[in-house]
Amino acid sequence: MFADLHLHTSFSDGTYSPEELTSHGQRLGFGALALTDHDTLEGCARMGRACGTAGIEFIAGTELTAEQDGTELHILGYLVDTQDAKLLAEIARFQAVRQERIREMVARLNEAHVPLKVESVFALANCKAPGRPHVARALVQAGLCGSLDEAFDRYLKKHRPAWVPKFKMSAADAIDLIHQAGGVAVMAHPGLNHADDSIPGMVEAGLDGLECFHTKHSTATSEHYLEMADRFNVLVTGGSDCHGMNKGKPLIGTVKLPYEHVVKLKARAAERRAAATTEASSP
Ligand code: AMP
Ligand code: FE
Ligand code: FE
Ligand code: ZN
Repeated sequence: MFADLHLHTSFSDGTYSPEELTSHGQRLGFGALALTDHDTLEGCARMGRACGTAGIEFIAGTELTAEQDGTELHILGYLVDTQDAKLLAEIARFQAVRQERIREMVARLNEAHVPLKVESVFALANCKAPGRPHVARALVQAGLCGSLDEAFDRYLKKHRPAWVPKFKMSAADAIDLIHQAGGVAVMAHPGLNHADDSIPGMVEAGLDGLECFHTKHSTATSEHYLEMADRFNVLVTGGSDCHGMNKGKPLIGTVKLPYEHVVKLKARAAERRAAATTEASSP
């Protein structure tokens, strides 16, 4: 039995609905799926229902945008309580930052004489956690760019005219936030971040795992992080990071994580919750 623990829907920058994503998972024979939309938990309820109907185990999650030593890092939070008030409040704050950033990006595009309307981006995004991919799609839809890659290369990448930095929480705060919501914190796609030096400190701060398997990790990269996970005694996870039809072909199916890692993930979450309960009830 296999799992994909890194998936996006149209509740962030993916193109599939939770139901569409689940049916792809079912077609591919997955036994467990986790939804990890950027800075939101909105799609979890629908994805949970769809997976229930399809006989697939569902793991609620999110991919929080954080920062460590000046580098953007993505922290996956699994098995969090999707109704946790503090987590929801923090997420709402980061969604507001994302929405404000869209306005600023469009203002900069307009200054650069690219006549994109901010309403068109929000209409297209139609979610609380909009990001650069939505601006890119709106640019293509308006005929202002020929492709998503062109939109990023010309305008949206770091140091390009419409790039706007994003306020981020520290990785340690993201880890704490996930833990207090009963979840398990995993560093997403470490091979894309070049932040290996930050890993020991993050493990010290309570990081529970490394996403060793990812579509963009080579075999050597996966092996490197498997070795690190073993050395630091943290969990191993993996997922496709499928964003739907954004880049021609959906990525779901490219990473098949053996189910034993899901068993360990659930055990870690149970341990964390038991420890929190003991702490809360001790005098
Ligand atoms: P944001 O969180 O708004 O900064 O957007 C980051 C997201 O944009 C990532 O999660 C990717 O899905 C996507 N992305 C980043 N760089 C590119 C690129 N060069 N081409 C297409 N999508 C990209
Ligand atoms: Fe994304
Ligand atoms: Fe990511
Ligand atoms: Zn992702």
